[in-house]
Amino acid sequence: MALTLTDLTAPEGFERLVLAEAPEAGLRALICLHSTALGPAAGGCRMWRYADDDAAIRDVTRLARGMTHKNAMADLGLGGGKAVIFGDAATDKTPRMMRAFGAAVEALEGRYWTAEDVGISPEDMAHAAEATRFAVGLSGASGDPSPWTAEGVFRCLQTGAGHVFGTADLTGRRVLVQGLGHVGLSLAEKLAKAGARLTVTDINPAAVQDAAHRLGAAVCAPDAVFDQQVEILAPCALGGVLTDETAQALSASLVCGAANNQLSHDGVATLLAAREITYLPDYVVNAGGIISVASEIHGKPDAWRLERLTAIAGRVGQMLARATETGRAPAQVADEMVAAMLDTRRAA
Ligand code: NAD
Repeated sequence: MALTLTDLTAPEGFERLVLAEAPEAGLRALICLHSTALGPAAGGCRMWRYADDDAAIRDVTRLARGMTHKNAMADLGLGGGKAVIFGDAATDKTPRMMRAFGAAVEALEGRYWTAEDVGISPEDMAHAAEATRFAVGLSGASGDPSPWTAEGVFRCLQTGAGHVFGTADLTGRRVLVQGLGHVGLSLAEKLAKAGARLTVTDINPAAVQDAAHRLGAAVCAPDAVFDQQVEILAPCALGGVLTDETAQALSASLVCGAANNQLSHDGVATLLAAREITYLPDYVVNAGGIISVASEIHGKPDAWRLERLTAIAGRVGQMLARATETGRAPAQVADEMVAAMLDTRRAA
């Protein structure tokens, strides 16, 4: 099978952007290494029907950069990277395509570690792993990362509540969970157990009914999230939910959820801060999953992932303290913490 790797011009500040093509296997993919300053780049592989190459490049670069931030803040000894495969995961994906993708990852000689993301399952990763040593998130290894993500978000939410409401006790606290998938449902269960007054929403009516029934949650329509009177919002569905408009409409004082790229643009963090809404940056609070994956990369035991998971909430506490001292938004503080880590390592 012919596989060609072509280096494309990487955007400024990025290390590498590679186009991988294996026409016989139906593979066309981009692999982006944003930074390997802190270790080999690690981040999932997404399969998506992109409108054009520019859309795929925008997605893979934004996601790779996000992984640098996430891995740095979680202290994983890993840099940031991401891969995207062009195509429809439901109809175009084949084991042969995944093996070709694995071969492309292998050709990068360990500078990039791949795992599942949207459209890619543990079974797909197992096919990729037939052709590379650098595929993780395999069944029987570190397992499903979602419970780790949910636990990390829950602990950060408690830390955030302590900061905003003066107590981490969630009894009676009005919390809205947007999205009841792998992470959101697990988070909703933890919140219900902690005594929160839950409101839930999802575009999947069965998931909503289940949560309403089992967890005693109130329900709101997917498009009514920002009309609800709540104290905490936990976005666990899509990115981009916090826009100039929704930030103005939001009643909550704390935002802490699993969804990646919750802010539609960086300025929304300032807008939220101006309204005295504490937004805990997504890439800090949702690192539980990559921590779990990193334990597989580094061959570390459960104690290692638990220690790192516990550290996330501690870091959120430091970030909030620094934000209060300096009068800046927690998101700005987090970005600066990452920049300082990268500068120190580059200088070394
Ligand atoms: P998932 O696909 O299992 O769940 C997403 C849920 O959101 C689904 O139930 C879906 O029906 C629902 N949804 C979609 N659009 C919606 C809308 N407009 N309104 C309400 N609900 C909607 O995904 P997941 O693994 O639970 O991940 C959730 C989010 O967290 C994603 O943004 C993901 O990128 C991010 N994340 C996940 C992990 C992980 O370990 N799974 C790690 C880090 C970040």
